[in-house]
Amino acid sequence: MTTTPCHAFLGLGSNKGESERLLAVARDRIARIPQTTLVAASSVYRTQPQLYADQPWFWNQVVRVQTALSPGELLAATQTIEAELGRNRRQEERFGPRTMDIDILMFGDLQVQDEVLTIPHPRLVERAFMLVPLLELEPQAILPDGTVLREALDHLSYTWSNDQIWQAN
Ligand code: ADP
Ligand code: MG
Repeated sequence: MTTTPCHAFLGLGSNKGESERLLAVARDRIARIPQTTLVAASSVYRTQPQLYADQPWFWNQVVRVQTALSPGELLAATQTIEAELGRNRRQEERFGPRTMDIDILMFGDLQVQDEVLTIPHPRLVERAFMLVPLLELEPQAILPDGTVLREALDHLSYTWSNDQIWQAN
């Protein structure tokens, strides 16, 4: 599909297994996706779980990649990495503990809405654990619909101290 390299932001999350090491492995694998360069990585944050409070805190990080892949090709590549890192969707609860979740938060100026992909990520504007690391990499980030992400974050009820993010449901 697209051949012009595009900047995309990926959100990484883990709260099962050796999460810190799994994040490092995920970054390494992302850097080796064909036609894709890992450009930058945010700090790693410890974040309060959403929806199901009764699970371990997450380790979250956002990375910026430059890619010539289409969004669907990038999703296939990141889902392969999730599976390699032990993710098995059939054996897990939605929003429950997972070894590795990799979500496409933004993909250049693209807006996608089909059966497999929604871009920008539908929960990006509601989730401090996605917005704080993304804004660390791109403080002026704006969605294709004009939403200023710094303002979206300011509307959320959350607390952030060093590398920890609290956000009640
Ligand atoms: P979660 O919503 O907790 O991230 P999953 O990682 O299991 O749940 O993803 C469920 C499905 O969400 C995937 O199979 C994928 O098709 C779809 N999806 C839709 N939009 C996106 C996106 N922007 N990034 C990643 N997956 C997406
Ligand atoms: Mg996901």
